[in-house]
Amino acid sequence: MPQKLLKFVSVDKSMPQKRPAGERRQDFSEIYGEFARRNAAEQAARCSQCGIPFCQVHCPLQNNIPDWLKLTAEDRLEEAYEVSSATNNMPEVCGRICPQDRLCEGNCVIEKGFESVTIGSVERYITETAFNEGWVKPARPRRELGQSVGIIGAGPGGLAAADQLRRKGYRITVYDRYDRVGGLLVYGIPNFKLEKEIIQRRHDLLSAGGIEFVLDFAVGRDAALAELRQRHDAILIATGVYQPRDIACPGVGLKNIVPALDYLIASNRKGLGDAVPEFDSGDLDASGKRVVVIGGGDTAMDCVRTAVRQGAKSVRCLYRRDRENMPGSQREVRNAEEEGVEFVWLAAPEAFVGRGKVRGVRAHRMHLGTADASGRQSPQPIEGSSFTLDADLVVKALGFDAEDLPGLFGAPELKVTRWGTVAIDQRSMMTALDGVFAAGDIVRGASLVVWAIRDGRDAAEQMHEYMRQKAAVAAVSADAAE
Ligand code: FAD
Ligand code: SF4
Ligand code: SF4
Repeated sequence: MPQKLLKFVSVDKSMPQKRPAGERRQDFSEIYGEFARRNAAEQAARCSQCGIPFCQVHCPLQNNIPDWLKLTAEDRLEEAYEVSSATNNMPEVCGRICPQDRLCEGNCVIEKGFESVTIGSVERYITETAFNEGWVKPARPRRELGQSVGIIGAGPGGLAAADQLRRKGYRITVYDRYDRVGGLLVYGIPNFKLEKEIIQRRHDLLSAGGIEFVLDFAVGRDAALAELRQRHDAILIATGVYQPRDIACPGVGLKNIVPALDYLIASNRKGLGDAVPEFDSGDLDASGKRVVVIGGGDTAMDCVRTAVRQGAKSVRCLYRRDRENMPGSQREVRNAEEEGVEFVWLAAPEAFVGRGKVRGVRAHRMHLGTADASGRQSPQPIEGSSFTLDADLVVKALGFDAEDLPGLFGAPELKVTRWGTVAIDQRSMMTALDGVFAAGDIVRGASLVVWAIRDGRDAAEQMHEYMRQKAAVAAVSADAAE
């Protein structure tokens, strides 16, 4: 039934049902259910339709949030889907895993006093309804343009660009070194945040629209960048960042101290039914172990919650700053605490102890000192504050850097920044190589899915402009030659 707007004064914020923590600990299924139709309309109707919608300003895609909330409240869901999908290539993903508390919802004006509109959950609801009702259709370009684009990387950045360019009529080939499409959406992020069928459904849709995927194909191993440049009119590099940051502590070489992504990839592959010898050997399985995860970002949160589900004896998260200053989403911290994870704030490892295998983490307490150049207070160790946590498995979730792409791609002319990310012209998004563009984490450093989508869309626009000009020049040259 259509709902009147401005209901925030009479209707409380409510999220879709969250499964009880005891039940969640037993499996890897998503923890939130779907809104019932009436609840979605009622929650959307809490929106006050602001003249200047701060929710939209703080969404990296500048999604037209007030409009699709209004349409949802009026039970006009097909139109709501059209509006929401016009600016977002994966609203079903963003609705699930954007850190909304830092983006759209955290900036909703009714957050002050009444709690924000549940924007992410409504976005997810609209898109799931659209899939169920058959409103989501593969791209059907009005005409084929003939020019071809090669995209390296099938993560959200590459997929958003592929979708946008295919809709314009380009021939698109996406290359990925993994055997599945989705990048970190499949191999990094666990099922309890984003089930893999959601990504498979997008993959199917993009294939049905005519995008070709070449999987198990690593640029640098199976072809040099120069070969792809010969094959295509333009190239997009969207390879993400995968080089794990390490920690310089005595004992770091002990067995059972592992990088976060190795741990998560093994768990995700196991869930997908793949053969995973490094998991079956027990090295990357937390079952029955005392686990310590080091770090305070989204990756650390995914590791602690994965360890809980694998049946760890205990799970602790060691982070050098406090709760207010951690980079991960507060919502995920609450979920982890409910599931039994213990957070040890203001503590950093000093050394790893054990013989052959790790047996413990010696840590010292930290206090937050003066702010550094980035404005964040820098953590300082407190003298004489050492303590030891027992551990049979330590997971290092300290962030990621870019690989050496110029070396890997056999393209020394590809310019990189001092952080190793690919350098682009900010306006054209082109790299130092003509016709080669870049987007997503490989340009920004480790970031968010929604930013990768935004970059992919922006790069698609710039590549379109580049190819239009290239075609125009070719036409003039052909005329002159006649
Ligand atoms: P990626 O998703 O990394 O995709 C890059 C693709 O390029 C991969 O498929 C890779 O196989 C391929 N590739 C790399 N090199 C080559 C090569 N040489 N040849 C061929 N293919 C290649 N963000 C959120 O918004 N919310 C979250 O909750 C969240 N949780 C996260 C949890 C974890 C554990 C991690 C690691 C990240 C998380 N993020 C989250 C961040 C988010 O996943 C990334 O910002 C996003 O996936 C970046 O997209 P991308 O397309 O730039 O790169
Ligand atoms: Fe919010 Fe992310 Fe959706 Fe934007 S894309 S409206 S930030 S959930
Ligand atoms: Fe609606 Fe909140 Fe956005 Fe205002 S800020 S338009 S109330 S969702």
